[in-house]
Amino acid sequence: MDFRDTPEDAGFRKTVQAFLAADYKPGEGGEARSAYQAGADGGPEAMDRYQKWMKKLATKGWIAPAWPIEYGGAGMSIMQQFVFNEELAKARAPRPGGIGIAMAGPTIIVYGTDEQKKQHLSGMLSGEDIWCQGFSEPGSGSDLASLQTTAVRDGDDYVVNGQKIWTSGAQFAERMILLARTDPQAPKHKGISYFLLDMKSPGVTVRPLINMANSPGFNEVFFDNVRIPAKDLLGEENRGWYIGTTTLDFERSSIGTSVAQTNAVDDLLLFIRERGGEVHPTMKLELAERSIEAETARLLSYRVITLQNRGQVPNHEASAIKLYAGELGQRIAASSIKLAGLYGVLDSKSKLGPDHAANRYAPRKGKFVRGYLNAVAGTIAGGTSEVQRGIIAGRGLGLPRG
Ligand SMILES: Cc1cc2nc3c(=O)[nH]c(=O)nc-3n(C[C@H](O)[C@H](O)[C@H](O)COP(=O)(O)OP(=O)(O)OC[C@H]3O[C@@H](n4cnc5c(N)ncnc54)[C@H](O)[C@@H]3O)c2cc1C
Repeated sequence: MDFRDTPEDAGFRKTVQAFLAADYKPGEGGEARSAYQAGADGGPEAMDRYQKWMKKLATKGWIAPAWPIEYGGAGMSIMQQFVFNEELAKARAPRPGGIGIAMAGPTIIVYGTDEQKKQHLSGMLSGEDIWCQGFSEPGSGSDLASLQTTAVRDGDDYVVNGQKIWTSGAQFAERMILLARTDPQAPKHKGISYFLLDMKSPGVTVRPLINMANSPGFNEVFFDNVRIPAKDLLGEENRGWYIGTTTLDFERSSIGTSVAQTNAVDDLLLFIRERGGEVHPTMKLELAERSIEAETARLLSYRVITLQNRGQVPNHEASAIKLYAGELGQRIAASSIKLAGLYGVLDSKSKLGPDHAANRYAPRKGKFVRGYLNAVAGTIAGGTSEVQRGIIAGRGLGLPRG
């Protein structure tokens, strides 16, 4: 592959750089990558900061880089989206995204009626409507097609009963993309439908789950005779599985850029320089490994982008970067904790250090330990590492099933 920008991409890169230099103050958007992540990790203040930054991006028409211009998106090519994400990551500015912009919106653009597009897309673009994804259930994650939540047609409505789990941001969301079984007699992939649920509907209960980083990022969601108007069915009844796989393709293709991992390694080097003192020789070797691995992740991302740019659909190649980046995230987080020493396991609220109010004993205000705990999810969310290995073995290496 040719790593140089084309003249058009180089021009676009300069435009993004100039905008960031003029309009982005370091830290102004916070560290979150979505509104609900901001809300979960930092509360209303962080959410407000994130939304303000998104509104700035909206003034440039960059809030939905991948959407076609006719729907209010930026209509960027695959390569431009990559350049855009890369420059934002280099500047440490949060990228636009979240389930509305990255997954629900593109799926509605493909399968929605004119009325559904009119009703839902503008709220995503203005940043007003937060969406969540109601796919996984207590018994259905990797084997999603086995889901048990039911939707039964009753007059002009469907009546929904069942439960979802691990629903990120459901506590803030106005809407949910929901998969539910509409034909229990049909083979499992052929009896599922796709709904655009109003989260304020009577009978919806959201119960937050606190993860081990002490963050209420995801939830259980219960449905007790929830009525969804038939106009909120997306696509045809019982074709939801196929629409859902489109959503999952959008999810995978928007899985972060590797620049964030290069940034994380750079942060460690900066930490060492600021702290001063000796670095143990084995730690030096470990950091060299992390640096090489971050570069490898970048090359694997380029491979996927190159395929997409040629109009091909990445398959096992996307699994390879998801697998590699998820596991690398955990290795970088583990190296951070080691490097920070015994105090590295303290978070900013810890009472263990004598000077906890000044955060003197919680390096980087607990960022390392939070990163370490949150990195665990990187090999589960969006498809587990074992599932990615299965895809690489079967579709990439042509190995037999079983
Ligand atoms: C932080 C986070 C956020 C999430 N957000 C959402 C969300 O917003 N909406 C949503 O719908 N879901 C969400 N999820 C759920 C996520 O999609 C599932 O957790 C994931 O798909 C795995 O499913 P599971 O948890 O049911 O595990 P299971 O599928 O039960 O897997 C259990 C174990 O078995 C292994 N396994 C399963 N199948 C195979 C196989 N075929 N071959 C080899 N090994 C296998 C898995 O790798 C794993 O180790 C989120 C998860 C996390 C961690």
